[in-house]
Amino acid sequence: MRWNLPPDRVPSAWFNVAPHLPVPLEPPLHPATRQPVGPDDLAPLFPMPLIAQEVTTEPWVDVPGEVLDILRLWRPTPLVRAERLEAALGTPARIYYKDESVSPAGSHKPNTAVPQAFYNRQDGIRRLTTETGAGQWGSALSFASALFGLECKVYMVRASYRQKPYRRVMMEVWGGEVVPSPVDDPDHPGSLGSAISDAVRDAAGRDDSHYALGSVLNHVLLHVTVLGLEAREQRALAGEARPDVVFGCGGGGSNLGGIALPFVPDPDVALVAVEPTSCPTLTEGRFDYDFGDVAGMTPLLPMYTLGHEFIPPSIHAGGLRYHGDAPIISSLVRAGRMRAVAYPQGKVFEAAVQFARTQGAIPAPETSHAIRAVIDEALAAKESGEERVILFNYSGHGLLDLGAYDDYLTGQLDQV
Ligand SMILES: *Cc1c(COP(=O)(O)O)cnc(C)c1O
Repeated sequence: MRWNLPPDRVPSAWFNVAPHLPVPLEPPLHPATRQPVGPDDLAPLFPMPLIAQEVTTEPWVDVPGEVLDILRLWRPTPLVRAERLEAALGTPARIYYKDESVSPAGSHKPNTAVPQAFYNRQDGIRRLTTETGAGQWGSALSFASALFGLECKVYMVRASYRQKPYRRVMMEVWGGEVVPSPVDDPDHPGSLGSAISDAVRDAAGRDDSHYALGSVLNHVLLHVTVLGLEAREQRALAGEARPDVVFGCGGGGSNLGGIALPFVPDPDVALVAVEPTSCPTLTEGRFDYDFGDVAGMTPLLPMYTLGHEFIPPSIHAGGLRYHGDAPIISSLVRAGRMRAVAYPQGKVFEAAVQFARTQGAIPAPETSHAIRAVIDEALAAKESGEERVILFNYSGHGLLDLGAYDDYLTGQLDQV
């Protein structure tokens, strides 16, 4: 029911999907000139190796040894068969999940935080700035910064800063400095887009500082492929030829990319993004060039977007409250290689509780979106009497989201 790999099997190269995309990616555009951005435009914010990874078409990119040593603190992560959930559903489907909740920060995000901190320190940078919504990315980067001796300043969406004090404390334990965003408007609840503006402005103004983004960009999705590569190997150990369908929840697209991209070259594997109906980027957004942040300071990215000024309702899946999606994910959806579905919050928590009461683990609200879709897929397989092999990414645990579960259990959760 559970497949582990030894520590020497952490993948030593990241999988680059670029050569496998049905349609090549359009370049990001400069916010002022609307011309394609070059490496020099990005150099004030990112170290050169990350800028190079953003555009590389090499099929594999080596993982530096120092990064591998840190990833081995928790990797390889287990692949688990959710047999008790299958039994409760009475489905002939076989459900597997990749458990990324075992990382120090409790999600998939340290997989990119560690290499980003590594390349910045190698570049002589002493300080990183970033944004965080619910606090998961800020905690991953604070953790990675601590291991490389970097300062880390986190602009946290003000609503979460007030609602989720324990995530802030986690960041502070790892030495991160956390301030509520937007910094210039103490009455505003904030959004991811406005926190990105604060963090970019800070890093652009200081020579010793760079900015780090926790999702969306090509190099972030590249780093997170370690988990999909491991899952591909573990699936063979579990005796499965291939998954029929792979699910991941979609915020900026990194955990979904991590599990799904290594399967893109296999046309028999269906790929599905799951998002909230209250922030329906892929299911209802338009494909266009748009800014990554509210203030319009970042390059324009070709992606599905709800408009950079869209402020989503404050649902509990803070990590899925983003107006855009990764250009790589957007390109796959646009080309028909990946499909997208959306669920309201009430149905998502119902699935989360069903999972916890069968498998034991309490999932993050973000992760529970994938679980909702997986349960529906397994019920459809029961209906049609089909044996289906389902794989999903268990992107994080929900042990710091118990306030949300309390709302659900006491009937106070917004159903939409
Ligand atoms: C941040 C987060 C997400 C969403 O971010 P992506 O970049 O879309 O992966 C999903 N699940 C968890 C647990 C997260 O922390």
